[in-house]
Amino acid sequence: MRQRLAILGSTGSIGRQTLDVAAAYPDLFEVRILTAGRNWELLCRQARRFDVDSVVIADKSLYPQVRDALSDTMIKVFAGEESIEYAAGSSEVDTVVTAIVGFAGMFPTVSAIKNSKKIALANKETLVVAGERIMELSMEHRAPIVPVDSEHSAIFQSLAGESGRSIEKLILTASGGPFLDYTPDMLRSVTPEQALAHPSWVMGRKITIDSATLMNKGFEVIEAKWLFGVDPSRIEVAVHPGSVVHSMVQFTDGAVKAQLGTPDMRLPIQYALTFPDRLPMKGDRLSFDGLTLAFSKPDTDRFPCLRLAYEAMERGGDAPCVVNAANEVAVEAFLGGKIGFCRIAEMIEASMNKMCSLSSPTLDDYRLCDKATREYANSII
Ligand code: NDP
Repeated sequence: MRQRLAILGSTGSIGRQTLDVAAAYPDLFEVRILTAGRNWELLCRQARRFDVDSVVIADKSLYPQVRDALSDTMIKVFAGEESIEYAAGSSEVDTVVTAIVGFAGMFPTVSAIKNSKKIALANKETLVVAGERIMELSMEHRAPIVPVDSEHSAIFQSLAGESGRSIEKLILTASGGPFLDYTPDMLRSVTPEQALAHPSWVMGRKITIDSATLMNKGFEVIEAKWLFGVDPSRIEVAVHPGSVVHSMVQFTDGAVKAQLGTPDMRLPIQYALTFPDRLPMKGDRLSFDGLTLAFSKPDTDRFPCLRLAYEAMERGGDAPCVVNAANEVAVEAFLGGKIGFCRIAEMIEASMNKMCSLSSPTLDDYRLCDKATREYANSII
């Protein structure tokens, strides 16, 4: 039996690499459902290539283009956010790869969990916003969540054969982004083009900016807390510009296990799909000839987003949802040239001070909180 996949966000960086993995093992994977935000042309090309059952385009205004482009096929075409949620729970698939960016990926992930799918989770925002509720749902509906994020995959791989009780701490590595050595003055004048030039990874625009502010690392700490059930006081961040060690686990006997490799997202994607098996993969191999590994502590004065993420975790309730929504608005404003780089953290902090109010939000509360925070954040651009 082939594993039947839905790839939510198939036109993005993770989505395209997931299709590369699926294409390498046609006997193992059957791509059944693809979804995209706006890139309907690529969606249609992917749909034809993998002869899928159905596609969903989030932007309803693009429905006619997709329908017409696929009119000579049997592929079913749907549009709109509700259709993505519906597709994520479809009986046509076993595994859902959640590769939509941002809060938009959360409710489709919830739908997949409620329909007991295996989740290959790339959309970290789901756990950032509603980690506690999501992990409860995953238990309730027996929907395993396997990480795609390279750091969490490294931890997941390091934990194979280990008991969760023997974890002393998790060490998430961070490349430090393109501005690792910048002074506060230099940071004030960086441009979107500079911020988009990540030194080690090629990723979507939003996560690339999150990596430059270190908000991505803050989000990953929250993600790790929920995925592995480890208190934030036992999750450390180590800046490691080489991006060779993808993360580590220190155990109660002092042993440290790590996963190393070249920066290639296809590996954690493939592992999420094939775990507990490990399949051959073509690509560059790590060379140890002359390899040195350097680590340092992150500077949360110059990169306050990491501190804000820890603060949000401590506050709990809707605080991480506020941080996520404000961050999405601020990153978009930065990319659009409306605010400077340092204003991203300022907008997030202002939103936290103004918008956090609920100590145990429901999933519906998160929707309202996300909307209200976006309105507030837009008002202070
Ligand atoms: P991209 O920006 O490259 O792709 C995002 C995908 O989401 C695209 O398919 C896009 O469609 C779709 N999309 C955007 N907005 C919406 C919406 N409102 N409704 C439905 N679909 C939408 O992002 P990445 O692939 O880089 O990241 C995806 C997720 O994976 C993020 O949560 C990120 O944090 C996480 N991640 C990414 C890594 C990476 O290496 N890229 C590493 C680890 C985690 P379209 O382009 O057609 O508009």
